[in-house]
Amino acid sequence: MNTRSFTFRITLWYLLVLLGLMCALGAGVYSYVSHSLYRNLDDSLAIRATQLGDIPTTVENIKKGEFAEKIGEVVVLCFHENKKLVEVSPRDFKLVLDDTFVEQAIAGLGGYVTTTSDDGQVVRALAVPLSYEGTVTVPRGPGEPPHVLEGEPMALVVGRATDYIDDALRGLLRTLLWAIPLVLLVASAGGAFLARRALAPVDRISQTARQIGAHDLSRRIEVNSRDELGRLAETLNDMISRLQNAFARQRQFTADASHELRAPLAIIQAEATLALQKERSTADYRRALEAVAAETGHATYVVEQLLGLARMDAMDGLERNGLVQVDTLVQGLAEEVGALCREKGLELRIGPLNAAVVRGDDRRLREALLNILDNAVRYTPVGGTVSISIVASGAETLVQVADTGPGIHEGELTRIFERFYRVDRARTRTGGGSGLGLAISRTIVELHGGRIDVESEPGKGSLFRVRLPIAD
Ligand code: ADP
Repeated sequence: MNTRSFTFRITLWYLLVLLGLMCALGAGVYSYVSHSLYRNLDDSLAIRATQLGDIPTTVENIKKGEFAEKIGEVVVLCFHENKKLVEVSPRDFKLVLDDTFVEQAIAGLGGYVTTTSDDGQVVRALAVPLSYEGTVTVPRGPGEPPHVLEGEPMALVVGRATDYIDDALRGLLRTLLWAIPLVLLVASAGGAFLARRALAPVDRISQTARQIGAHDLSRRIEVNSRDELGRLAETLNDMISRLQNAFARQRQFTADASHELRAPLAIIQAEATLALQKERSTADYRRALEAVAAETGHATYVVEQLLGLARMDAMDGLERNGLVQVDTLVQGLAEEVGALCREKGLELRIGPLNAAVVRGDDRRLREALLNILDNAVRYTPVGGTVSISIVASGAETLVQVADTGPGIHEGELTRIFERFYRVDRARTRTGGGSGLGLAISRTIVELHGGRIDVESEPGKGSLFRVRLPIAD
């Protein structure tokens, strides 16, 4: 398995978490069992000590030398004889006992201790005080006189080897030590399988995405589910759609631009070839050169507009923070256009020009509005009217340019803002239009956070509306 793959890392994390949990669980079980076993042992020692503490029987049995221990049990009787601490076990079985611990038990303060027997076994022991009014004879050993105690305080120590607990705990530990790796092994196989299964769609998505090249943008990633991966595939599909549209626009734009420049170049070439075919009069050369100059002028105009658009697309040199007094700007434009209108026999009506300030580039906004006004003057026939007004309301200022020109068909209302789109190619071409004017205006207005639209009907004139956000 690839150690850098997501599947590997997710499985590894899962195993680490599982290992932590299993270790914690194992430790918990082990300590619970160990604690319970030791508590049980302590409880049984306490019961046995109480049993043995039933004085008459025990003492009587000791007196008679008939005291019987249970199997695995150690009983030690502790007392003072001639001020010396004596520990006697009926089985003569010795426990390593701390003198202070024993003294405390004789004095009445019993307790538990974990110690060893003389044969090296670990023994858990309980010492309890024992007292008897009267004489007790404790056998000392073969051939020796017994201890004779008269009403002396004693301590009884009951002990039991802990080896059975240790055996049980060792068994539990062994079980845990092979069970945990086994569980981890099975879990790692299961985890890797599940992770691979869950992430398989990601592999499919990336494979398809890799296969989709710039020339194959019509392909889409299959969306089979409504979950996170389904949404990822949808998002990628949306992105591919946007790329496809952008590429298509780009191709269209290049084709249109070439087409636009081919016409003047063809005319220039034709004029020059024709003029060079034979000797011509000065007047003919002049006419040919004039035609060449006119076409060069048009080509230059188109190239300049294209450059302007490209710069705007890259937001190159766009002043974003300047404050533009829209009413002053429109007033200036109206004066410029006024001369053109008079020349063409049009009436220019200047409506209310509400004062408004917007944030942005003065020169670009002027260009955007001039393109619209220029169209209004160009397309309106003699005797017509061009009106301009500004209405500032709330957060928005609305610049309106109306004309009584030919109007625009409904199907073309949005298309006229596309690059190189012209309603009547022949008519506007001779009028000097490139089909870029409104596209430039829209780009500028949108870069300023505004909108541009048109309302028009064939034969009834057009109304262009530019909305711009007013500066705070
Ligand atoms: P052009 O340079 O050809 O004028 P524009 O982008 O400015 O390019 O305009 C695109 C098309 O929209 C024009 O070719 C014209 O057909 C149409 N148009 C623009 N303004 C008007 C108007 N005021 N009245 C009628 N048609 C218009």
